[in-house]
Amino acid sequence: MSLIVQKFGGSSVKNAERILHVAETIAKTYWAGNNVIVVLSAQGDTTDELIDKAEEINPHPSKREMDMLLSTGEQISVALCAMALETLHIPCVSLAAWQVGIQSTSVHSAARIKRIDSERIRSELDQRRVVLVTGFQGVDRNGDVTTLGRGGSDTSAVALAAVFHADLCQIFTDVDGVYTTDPRIVPNARKLDEITYDEMLELASQGAQVLHNRSVELAKKFHVNLEVVSSLEDKPGTKVKEVTKVEKTNIAGVAKDTSIARVALVGLQHNPGVAFQVFDLLSRNNINVDVILQSIGRDETKDITFTVHKKDMEEAERILNDHKSALKFDHIEMDDKIGKVSIVGMGLMSNCGVAAKMFEALYEAGINIQMINTSEIRVSVLLDESDVNKAVKAIHDKFFDDI
Ligand code: ASP
Ligand code: MG
Repeated sequence: MSLIVQKFGGSSVKNAERILHVAETIAKTYWAGNNVIVVLSAQGDTTDELIDKAEEINPHPSKREMDMLLSTGEQISVALCAMALETLHIPCVSLAAWQVGIQSTSVHSAARIKRIDSERIRSELDQRRVVLVTGFQGVDRNGDVTTLGRGGSDTSAVALAAVFHADLCQIFTDVDGVYTTDPRIVPNARKLDEITYDEMLELASQGAQVLHNRSVELAKKFHVNLEVVSSLEDKPGTKVKEVTKVEKTNIAGVAKDTSIARVALVGLQHNPGVAFQVFDLLSRNNINVDVILQSIGRDETKDITFTVHKKDMEEAERILNDHKSALKFDHIEMDDKIGKVSIVGMGLMSNCGVAAKMFEALYEAGINIQMINTSEIRVSVLLDESDVNKAVKAIHDKFFDDI
C-alpha cells in the first residue's frame, strides 16, 4: 500500500463546488488502495482578507496574534473538506497542526518546522482514514500557534511527505505545472515536464509563485518525490527531481520579483568590519538581505547597497538610523520601485554565453540594469519596476523562440 500526500492550494478549495471536486480527487486516490494525507491552504483569498480585518483594528498587531488569526483559514478548509469526504463515505479526520504535533520554531509569521510527531497521523492511517492537515502552520514549544510564511502550505505537505516516507507528494494548483515563465506575461510560456530541485529552488526563491521555496529545499534534502499538478484537469504536471534529461535550451525559466526594495548606505568608512556590522545588525533583527553591492566612493568612503523585502524597508531604515553614530554613514537612500528578473538553469554552469544572451536581450529592449547578482545556476538583474514585464518577455523570447 502506497502513501500519497496531496496538497491543494487556496484556489482549489475556494468554494463548495471546488471542495467537492477536491474530495473526489482524494476519494479516487483512496479507493485505488492508497493511504492519503491531505494538506490544505485557506480558501481563496481568505488569508488576505484576514490580514485586512486585522488592519482595520490594529495596523501593527503582534505577530503572535496575527498567527493566531491567520491559522484559522486553514482550519476552515480541512473541516469543510472532511465534511465533503463524509458525503462520499470516505473515513477521514481533520487535524490542526497543533493536534498533529507539527513542532516549529517560535518565529511568528516565519516559523520553521523542526519535528513532526508521527503517532496521531500514523494511528489514523492505520485505521484507513484519510488525514486532512492544516497547511502553513505549526506549534511552538510553548504551545503557541505559528505560521510558516506566505505560501507555507507547500512546505507543510513536503515535510509530512518526508517524515512519513510518502511514495509521492502532489501539489495541486490551478495551473497544470511549472512554466518557463508566468504565462500571464508571456502567453507562449511552456510547461516543463520536469525540473531539478536546484532549478526549482532558484525559481521559487526568485519570485516564481508555484512553490514555497522552503518546500523545495526540504524535498531535495529528503529526496521527496514531488509533482506539481492541475487540480482542474487530469493530466501530467511537472515532476521535480534530482536530475532531469539535459535540455538544449540552457535555462529552465525566467522569474520576476517585484516585492523588493533597494537600500543604500552612502558614505561609510572604508574600514574592515563595516559590512559585518551592517549585516549582523539586520540579521539580528530578522531582516533578510538579498542582493548586495559594495562600491568605493570618494575620500576613503564606500557605499553599501542591498535589497530587502518591501515590507522590511522602513524597518531596515529605522534600525540603521538608530545605529548611525556607530556605523558612521552619511545618509540612507531607498527605492521601492525596483524589481528583479532572473534566469535559472543547470546549463548556466557549463555555458558562459548564457548570461551574455540575457544581457543582449535587455540591451535590445533598451532596458537599463541597476545591479547584477549570480549563483552557479542563476543570473539576476535589478531593474526599474516599470521595466520588469518587458524584460521577462524580451529574455524569454530570446531563449525560447528559436528552438
Ligand atoms: N494560506 C496561506 C497563504 O495564503 C498559506 C498558503 O496558501 O500556502 O499564504
Ligand atoms: Mg502557494
